[in-house]
Amino acid sequence: MDRETDAMDWLPDDTTAPLAAALAYRAHGFRPIPIFAPAGRACSCRMGRSCQAAGKHPVLRGWQRSRANERTIHARWSAWPRANVGLVTGGPARLIVLDVDATKDGNRFMRSRCVTSLCPRP
Ligand SMILES: [Zn+2]
Repeated sequence: MDRETDAMDWLPDDTTAPLAAALAYRAHGFRPIPIFAPAGRACSCRMGRSCQAAGKHPVLRGWQRSRANERTIHARWSAWPRANVGLVTGGPARLIVLDVDATKDGNRFMRSRCVTSLCPRP
């Protein structure tokens, strides 16, 4: 592994429990928030199958102003243990996200444009 990849070794993967993932992100300076999880083709929110953002929206109102210290993270994932982990982005979070949709030729695009070792391999 190269230095860039080694620096990312702490990143949670899809086997990491949501609470552990949220704590790992917090430990590295991010602000994790609980996100409703998908439930099959539906959303785990009260809208279920009629939710237009299934598995992609925050559980909390006012999440933009919410704190994410260890106590609040434990409390939130105790209340919603199956919630996915979202990260607050933009502005003060100093985090931007590039969302590449692999089902719409995103991997080919990334291979042609990406210049770091974290890029998808052919
Ligand atoms: Zn929903």
